[in-house]
Amino acid sequence: AIKKEGKNAVRFFEPIMDADVQTRLRLETRLREAVAHNRLTLQYQPQVDVQTGELVGLEALARWTDEELGVVSPCEFIAVAEDTGLIVPLGTWVLNEACRQAAEWSLKVPVAVNISPVQMLRPDFVAVVAATLKQHAMVPRLLKLEMTERLGVRDPDLAAQQLGCLRALGVTLSLDDFGAGQSTFASLTTLPLQEVKLDRSLLAGITEDPASWQMLETLLTLARGLKLAVVVEGVETSGQLRVLRTLGCATVQGYLMGRPAEPAVMAQRFSLSEG
Ligand code: C2E
Ligand code: MG
Ligand code: MG
Ligand code: MG
Repeated sequence: AIKKEGKNAVRFFEPIMDADVQTRLRLETRLREAVAHNRLTLQYQPQVDVQTGELVGLEALARWTDEELGVVSPCEFIAVAEDTGLIVPLGTWVLNEACRQAAEWSLKVPVAVNISPVQMLRPDFVAVVAATLKQHAMVPRLLKLEMTERLGVRDPDLAAQQLGCLRALGVTLSLDDFGAGQSTFASLTTLPLQEVKLDRSLLAGITEDPASWQMLETLLTLARGLKLAVVVEGVETSGQLRVLRTLGCATVQGYLMGRPAEPAVMAQRFSLSEG
């Protein structure tokens, strides 16, 4: 700390600390505790066949309610976890817990787990996934890993290499949030994917605006051409569902079909065996 107070001296102590920085630091401290003591939980959201309504997958979503901070949204705590490296133990816990739950349920459809780029690009990630599958005697195909295009940004070669190894392991690879933000088409052809999830922003206006409808139809055709399965995210209205059915989209996920919910709620709704 510099105490010398010259004309141009840098003053480290004033203002004490930006309020945002303080909030974030507190969040980080609490999150570190929560991860260390396994205080996070998972909710599951159904993915259903648009024609039959059948369950075809479940997405695991991390949840955190802190004693002091209350409910913290994943968007907020995942970002902090990524910045601080906490995403590694957090992500490993999520992966293991989702597989444990899927095994407990004897789930016959894939469980989807979100993987952040930091996690995915770690040299030991493939080994961690392999060990987790083995531990829960899980069929690799029934584990789906969701990643966003952020993965390829940092290190496209390493990303492609890691995904290649995961493919060799037999897990299913899905590109999340396609069509949100600054999407590029490159990842669809350069990464060894089996599935693309179309972002909910693409649904805005599809019931009334022909251009939005056209865009969605074109993306579905593109995916079909690339032999990628499609999940459309964020379906909230029956009007949207009707359009998707007409367009021949296979799988939908959204509040209309079911909000993310506790394991017990999912088990009851879809008659999954407990214990
Ligand atoms: P995501 O992977 O794209 O997950 C879908 C998000 O959309 C979830 O938000 C879900 O609750 C929400 N959603 C589902 N259906 C609808 C709908 O009909 N309308 C609207 N408006 N939203 C819907 P959630 O749970 O808040 O998670 C936000 C993001 O946080 C996730 O987006 C994912 O990127 C990240 N995340 C969540 N859990 C994990 C995790 O375990 N690991 C990592 N790395 N990221 C996670
Ligand atoms: Mg996801
Ligand atoms: Mg998404
Ligand atoms: Mg997202």
